[in-house]
Amino acid sequence: MAQHSYPPDPDVMPLGPRQRALLAVLQEANAELSGQELHERLRQGSQRHGLATVYRNLRLLQRSGLVRCRKLPNGESVYAPLERDDHHLTCVSCGHSEPLPICPVATGGLGLSKVLLQGFKPLFHTFEIHGLCLSCQQSEPLSHG
Ligand SMILES: [Zn+2]
Ligand SMILES: [Zn+2]
Repeated sequence: MAQHSYPPDPDVMPLGPRQRALLAVLQEANAELSGQELHERLRQGSQRHGLATVYRNLRLLQRSGLVRCRKLPNGESVYAPLERDDHHLTCVSCGHSEPLPICPVATGGLGLSKVLLQGFKPLFHTFEIHGLCLSCQQSEPLSHG
């Protein structure tokens, strides 16, 4: 498999019906979805999507610059359309994830020049802040063991 030769160009490689269905489910959802959740939702449609196919198409959509992905603290990957540039404050104690109102990367935090990128083509970024939410700070005084 020549996986690393060229990034597929969406204009040259049109999406298949399964990839379009996958993207539509992600765009309709108001939250990020895991591969398993996507698989569940697609089962309600007319096409057959095996779980392995869902993951393969997710990789393809990421390579086409249409889908972004981030890893939750439990190791699970969740997916969203590329245009949804969301960032989160995630509590390491209760796992609660609160969206940040702005993208700190797009507001000038990432001044990567072409020289630093060395030909790398950026498609999406992730930015997470992990810590303790307000209620966990109040209910679990860690320092007073
Ligand atoms: Zn918490
Ligand atoms: Zn961002």
